[in-house]
Amino acid sequence: MKKSLWQKDAGHNSFDKLSKNLSADVLIIGGGITGLTTAYNLIDKKYNVVLLEGDKFFSGTTCKSTGKLTYLQDLKYQDIYNIYDFQTAKLYYEAQKDAIRLAKKIIKDNNIDCDLVKSSSITFTNDEKEIKKFDKEQDILDALDVKYYITSKEFDKKEVKRLIMVKNTYVFNPVKYLKGVLKTVKNAKNIKVYENSRVTKIKKEDKHYVAYANDYEIEAKKIVIACNYPFFTIPGFIPFKTYMEKSYITATKVSNTKDICGITSSVPTVSFRYHQDGDTSYFIYLNNSSKICDKLNYKKNYDECVENAKGITGTNPNYKWTNMDVMTNDSLPLIGRISEDDRNVFIATGYNTWGMTNGTIAGKIIYDLISDRKNKYEEVFNPSREMTLLKFKNFISNTILSNAKAYTFNLIKKNPSWYKDKAFVTKIEGKRMGVYFDSEGKEHKVSNICPHLKCFLTFNEVDKTWDCPCHGSRFDVDGNVVKGPSCYNIKIDETKPLN
Ligand SMILES: Cc1cc2nc3c(=O)[nH]c(=O)nc-3n(C[C@H](O)[C@H](O)[C@H](O)COP(=O)(O)OP(=O)(O)OC[C@H]3O[C@@H](n4cnc5c(N)ncnc54)[C@H](O)[C@@H]3O)c2cc1C
Repeated sequence: MKKSLWQKDAGHNSFDKLSKNLSADVLIIGGGITGLTTAYNLIDKKYNVVLLEGDKFFSGTTCKSTGKLTYLQDLKYQDIYNIYDFQTAKLYYEAQKDAIRLAKKIIKDNNIDCDLVKSSSITFTNDEKEIKKFDKEQDILDALDVKYYITSKEFDKKEVKRLIMVKNTYVFNPVKYLKGVLKTVKNAKNIKVYENSRVTKIKKEDKHYVAYANDYEIEAKKIVIACNYPFFTIPGFIPFKTYMEKSYITATKVSNTKDICGITSSVPTVSFRYHQDGDTSYFIYLNNSSKICDKLNYKKNYDECVENAKGITGTNPNYKWTNMDVMTNDSLPLIGRISEDDRNVFIATGYNTWGMTNGTIAGKIIYDLISDRKNKYEEVFNPSREMTLLKFKNFISNTILSNAKAYTFNLIKKNPSWYKDKAFVTKIEGKRMGVYFDSEGKEHKVSNICPHLKCFLTFNEVDKTWDCPCHGSRFDVDGNVVKGPSCYNIKIDETKPLN
């Protein structure tokens, strides 16, 4: 898979792979912003902590994001207000502001050089039909007492119909940030970290849980699921509360940077920011951000993103990559106890592409819950919150209809007589298979059904992977998992779990 601009800064540090049975007070599964911030909050506390990263560190969603640390998140406050009420929108706003403060404190206290710079944030639209929404968002921002502007010297484009801008927001390099946090976490006496240690199963025992990774067992009193998308359905029923969004991103060298970053209000989203890397300035441009099922032609989306970026900068992008995040049907993240029956299992997911703030606040909320302390955001982000009619309607449109679209896109095609660098779906002895002919004409055959929740896989011509459009699992052409939640490969003759 293509690397992001940030991942060039990952370096060559390697960490141990889990190679023995362990026991822990707290097991954290996942080493992105959520897992590492949770671990950070547990440093030198009374718990013995193990953190397992399934891949290499710096390979997850965080490291392919656009790295904006902002509380102006498209038209977020009215999304929440429309489903809930003003009080809920206010709590969400306060959580974002707290998260920015916390991230800045972590950076300062640990001297993390992560290119943190102030950058005004704007939400804008070129579409007349969106104007009313901007009026409403401004009303809510007024009620929240947020200082905002409706013009911007730095972003002066005549096709823009409306914009909202706030100051005191930031951008940073998410890989350099995570590297800094990981350095502090790994030096803590009470925390052990491992990479290439993917958890494939959790079993509940009488007084503790057992997690399985690399053929070893970790016995833990409390478990934090920080793996972006959980690899199990029960408890929590996360697939019923969420859907996936995918985006295409480029970074292009430009002559200078501007202190502004922005996002459009409508879907498919366009977003941008600048980044100063030593003497080199980059313009980062994101395009075609939408439910995966709405835009299944991966190559077309990629090409469009590159063309648009070229149109703005006049030159070919230096980096291109894709990223996906977990979206919730009610616009609020899912952070806290996974269910009332499993009070010692905590989850943090569903950040709706705003995980630099939500992942940071999640680390604090989960630390408070682990320590039996009150947290003012516990209720509002509670993963077991009620399913209202509107949320249910969103579930139908986001998940069920999307699956139908994926199915139609993926209708079985006739086996062509000869293909090079092409993939198709066919039935062999009654089983749905994905077949890819590589550039030398060699055939690679895999199952076309995702082992996670039995969705149909679509071929991604850009990365040469079979991708699940519903929950984000990805497999290489030989059927190996390259990204969860699936814990199983899709090799034709291999149906056993990875570990
Ligand atoms: C295109 C795009 C741009 C974005 N830009 C921004 C932005 O500018 N600002 C912002 O606030 N947010 C942004 N986001 C959202 C943000 O990137 C995510 O919400 C956030 O990074 C999620 O963090 P995480 O720690 O939950 O997940 P991750 O960073 O994905 O970390 C999870 C880790 O768990 C590991 N893992 C998975 N399964 C297992 C397992 N079974 N066992 C062990 N480990 C496992 C993974 O390898 C991974 O390293 C963006 C998202 C997208 C898609």
